[in-house]
Amino acid sequence: MPQSKIEYQAGLSLTQFTEQYGTESQCEAALEKARWPEGFRCPRCGGAHYGVIHDRRRKRYRCKNCRHQTTLTAGSVFEATKLALTIWFQANYMLSLAKTGLPALAPKRQPGVSYRTSWMIHHKLMHAMQQRDDHYLLGGLVQIDDAYLGFELSGGQAGRGSESKVLFVAAVEFNEKRRPIHMRMSRVSGFTTRAISSWAQNHVAAGTTVITDGLACFAGVTEAGCKHIAKIAGGRKLNELPLFQCLNTILGNAKTGIGGAYHAFLFSKYSNRQLAEIAYRFDRRFNLKTLHQRLPIAAVSCPPCLERLLRSAESSC
Ligand SMILES: [Zn+2]
Repeated sequence: MPQSKIEYQAGLSLTQFTEQYGTESQCEAALEKARWPEGFRCPRCGGAHYGVIHDRRRKRYRCKNCRHQTTLTAGSVFEATKLALTIWFQANYMLSLAKTGLPALAPKRQPGVSYRTSWMIHHKLMHAMQQRDDHYLLGGLVQIDDAYLGFELSGGQAGRGSESKVLFVAAVEFNEKRRPIHMRMSRVSGFTTRAISSWAQNHVAAGTTVITDGLACFAGVTEAGCKHIAKIAGGRKLNELPLFQCLNTILGNAKTGIGGAYHAFLFSKYSNRQLAEIAYRFDRRFNLKTLHQRLPIAAVSCPPCLERLLRSAESSC
């Protein structure tokens, strides 16, 4: 897999970031551009003309057509935030450029907020990443594999069947040059035909060619209208075949990142969000220079999610 150009491309330096997003008004302007790239649009009537009201906390936009008032953050994951936008943008910068999953504590060290607040910022931004990619269906040529992550209880069953492990499907979409372009990692209830069928219906477009190592449950992708090819190694180890080598490398990097960043229990509870965070960065790895501009767009387009729901279960909001 051609990693070097991607690995060593220059991202936005901290100095450049501070110059561009160091003040509240700079962040406000950036968020306005992310929310209304073609100029203001009233969320109620679609009107383009507005007046500005400055109150103590946030600039309010008042539609001249229907008089509806809104803010930059209303209706998004930023809704009702009391934090300065500079803090959100610092967290966005750190998350966008982190090579691996970032524990909730990490943002605390930079923006100077409490652990609880940094946890909330991190999970809201991860939620936005997950929402952004959830509707994209993998297509063309896709390879999938079974994967698991977590910890083993003493005396517990190891491997695929262990109850203490998070089971997930790792999937990579390749372009016509056989380069990996998109990745999805999604938790599944088990490696059964029914679970894989359900997974495929949610994540893969009908007509896609799906290559697997032939694990029986993967035949379930055909129920989602996919063509299934079970690769036979023909005397070679499967992970020596180029396509499998690529997925194995991606999966190995993801596991290392997750293992280094999250405690096993916390990973088990919020795994879909954390897997989505890794996939989000992978899909956008070709242009690190603009990565920090894309997460605010995802966040401002994502409906609000209460902290209570964010903490209770990963699929609640
Ligand atoms: Zn209006």
